[in-house]
Amino acid sequence: MKRVSIFGATGSIGQNTIDLIARAPDEYEIVALSGGRNVAQLAEDARNLRAEVAVTAFAECLPDLRAALAGTGIAAAAGEEALLEAAARPADWVMSAIVGAAGLAPGLKALEQGAALALANKESMVCAGPLIMATARAHGGVVLPVDSEHSAVFQALVGERIEDVERVVLTASGGAFRDWPLERLAQATPEQAATHPNWDMGQRITIDSASMFNKALELIETREFFQLDPARIEAVVHPESLVHALVGFRDGALMAHVGPSDMRHAIGYALHYPERRALPVERLDLVQIGQLTFRAACETRWPALRLARDVMAAGGLAGAVFNAAKEQAMDAFIDHRIGFLQMAEVVEVVLNRLSAHKSHIDAEISLDNVRQADHLARVTADEYIRNG
Ligand code: NDP
Ligand code: MG
Repeated sequence: MKRVSIFGATGSIGQNTIDLIARAPDEYEIVALSGGRNVAQLAEDARNLRAEVAVTAFAECLPDLRAALAGTGIAAAAGEEALLEAAARPADWVMSAIVGAAGLAPGLKALEQGAALALANKESMVCAGPLIMATARAHGGVVLPVDSEHSAVFQALVGERIEDVERVVLTASGGAFRDWPLERLAQATPEQAATHPNWDMGQRITIDSASMFNKALELIETREFFQLDPARIEAVVHPESLVHALVGFRDGALMAHVGPSDMRHAIGYALHYPERRALPVERLDLVQIGQLTFRAACETRWPALRLARDVMAAGGLAGAVFNAAKEQAMDAFIDHRIGFLQMAEVVEVVLNRLSAHKSHIDAEISLDNVRQADHLARVTADEYIRNG
């Protein structure tokens, strides 16, 4: 029996993970499930999968969770400490699918107890990639990418040497506004940004796809995962979202990973790694698809891509600053306090203001320092949003 915990179980990735696990109940023992405000879903899954503990991130949700689990023998808990306690429970495989920087600490805890960490939470790689990789090494654990592009690269690298990699090409759908004229973007609403042409995902990553902050995070995630020189990492717009990523080797070969837009492929690959097992995903009919198209990813339309290059060049805690500023800017956009184009503006201002505090950016990448940089970036972003 594989002992499994799922953090962010009530979200889009969490539910897809549960879909796979529920198909083979005899193979898995569920240790912990975590969620946020969707207590009904969390309790239902905890009951169905007979989890040892269910944790909501928010204290005010605990009474409802307790009530929903009464008489089941499943422990209910809430808050950050409880998330860490759950992540420290011995498990073989832990899914990190909380959204945002909040996923970092539970992911580190899971690695510290020696679990394999399936990482959907790209924000933690952006904030603290070196810390995550060092923690995995120190405890004999492994980090398995779940982001579709990174899973694609990881799979293309099986049996290869990283020194032979000339470049990695990440594909981007272009998101909701791919074909909008530039002049219209200033008026784009959160509701419009939260609809994705190809993928069915959580609200925040869908908005990040429209602004390309998602691809910006993924460029940085690629650098951290595979230790590649940023100059070797590219993004290209591919509206069909069928090629997930390509790896170019020194002999000119380009290996593409092609598949349907279904996260259960990448989740399943990480779940069964290093084996490949049958997965319930659609098989592509290439003749019916007919053609695959690619376009340049324009940095005027999507300034987030340019900012990602700046962050990779700065290194250190710039990733934590970038991510936190982006999260604050997105909250403001969702609340209609700023427009769509201002998200990148806020992030750029915060990066510039905090780069004046070199000692913060160059500090060691520890959990405490990441938290401090994250906090400072959020305060700076809020101040700029309020006062300019
Ligand atoms: P969702 O918004 O669908 O789910 C997020 C999960 O995190 C939910 O379980 C939510 O609980 C929980 N949560 C929200 N806020 C907090 C918090 N402050 N502390 C702890 N838990 C919290 O997101 P997705 O599943 O789309 O994405 C999850 C992660 O995976 C993100 O990092 C995303 O970038 C990444 N990812 C997602 C992909 C996708 O296809 N969806 C593809 C590639 C990467 P609740 O809903 O109960 O409030
Ligand atoms: Mg992705």
